Amino acid sequence: MKIPLEPVRGMRDYTPPDSESLTWLTDVFKEIAMSYGYREVKTPTIELFLLFALKSGEEIRRSMYVFKDKAGREVALRPEVTPSVIRIYLRKLQAEPKPIKLYYIANVFRYDEPQFGRYREFWQAGIEILGGDTLIYDAELFYLLKDYYNAINLKEYNFKIGSMALLRALFRAWNIDEDEQDYLLHLLDKKIINEVMKILQVKYPKANPELLNELLKVRTQDPNELMKLESDLLSKYNEAVKAINDLVELMDFLKSYNINNFYIDLGFARGLAYYNGMIFEVEVPGLRISIGGGGRYDNLTQIYGGPPLSSTGFALGIERTYLALQKQGFSIPITKLRALAIPLKREALKPILKLSSMLRKYGIAIELCDGMNLSIKRWFSYANKKGLEIVLVIGDKELARNSVTMKNMKTGEQQMVKIDEALEVLRSWHYLKMK
Ligand code: AMP
Repeated sequence: MKIPLEPVRGMRDYTPPDSESLTWLTDVFKEIAMSYGYREVKTPTIELFLLFALKSGEEIRRSMYVFKDKAGREVALRPEVTPSVIRIYLRKLQAEPKPIKLYYIANVFRYDEPQFGRYREFWQAGIEILGGDTLIYDAELFYLLKDYYNAINLKEYNFKIGSMALLRALFRAWNIDEDEQDYLLHLLDKKIINEVMKILQVKYPKANPELLNELLKVRTQDPNELMKLESDLLSKYNEAVKAINDLVELMDFLKSYNINNFYIDLGFARGLAYYNGMIFEVEVPGLRISIGGGGRYDNLTQIYGGPPLSSTGFALGIERTYLALQKQGFSIPITKLRALAIPLKREALKPILKLSSMLRKYGIAIELCDGMNLSIKRWFSYANKKGLEIVLVIGDKELARNSVTMKNMKTGEQQMVKIDEALEVLRSWHYLKMK
């Protein structure tokens, strides 16, 4: 029987070097997160549908992989990780001192229409600061991201920052209930602004659509422009004024770490319905899709029946981060020297295994091949095609002298040396900064 070889629609196969680049991107993320004191959390791939259904937002709810397991439970493949982290917090971590700083690397699933940079399974690297209830924790997300993008050498990107707090403050003042707020924010996220205006005009007599319209147009890097809104437009709305003050203070915090690549966009909302404070996305010039995003969510624990907990966090799209890097001409930094070990006879196996094992301890990646059944010529051509930098050969000649022949594939230089001199030769070829 012939089976289809294409992966299921929206799924992807990754082979080297893409697979390795994606892993490298998550490895660097882990390192940076750990250097900020974050600890790893691992959550299940499958959760009850209800966990996500309550507050993930219209968009994600519609695109979830939902099915019944064999016992008839309605379950879903995780479309994001934050609800699981909150569930785990409520179950296990409540007694921990706050803030609890967690990171995760996880594959997530969304049954969206596949297109450029949009897949049905993709990887997220994320941070959650549980009980991080003040602006400094919002700011830390950006500090960490700056270091991460620096470490992976992403040169051009911008933080687009908005405020769900501001929009929700106005909606609350206009007597709009939480569900309708979520719906309006979903429409704003999709830029269906006419519909928002229509709903406000028809259903909410206290609403001021013109004021909202004005605010949605604000895009600025200037804190004074934001402050001016308070006196010009928002003087009646205390909570909205606080949301603006928070944005101004956040801008100030960002400047403390020399972060200047951001702008405030008050017309921006995010698809996840649990956000209620600052929100942001990471944009890359020339790429229409965002490579990461997050924000403050202060009430998810209560939605799940727990005590209040103020939190903030983000998730990065790893494949999209890779796309952004590729746009800038990225190739994964391969740090290992790669070599091929060719034993030409059965007796050569033992010494070449011993030599390989010693060299591996110095961080050299050594492939073993079968030089007994295929010609040495074939193996040199193999090493060449694969870009292996060093070839090690042991045959009759070498066995008789307790030696190894070493070839530097880049320069063509070749030497037969005593086995215990091999390391010195590699040093002299300046391949590695070896210990
Ligand atoms: P979200 O959980 O929607 O805030 O998404 C966080 C990040 O995941 C986004 O900024 C994207 O970089 C990435 N992302 C979201 N949806 C997809 C998708 N369908 N395919 C690939 N990456 C995605």
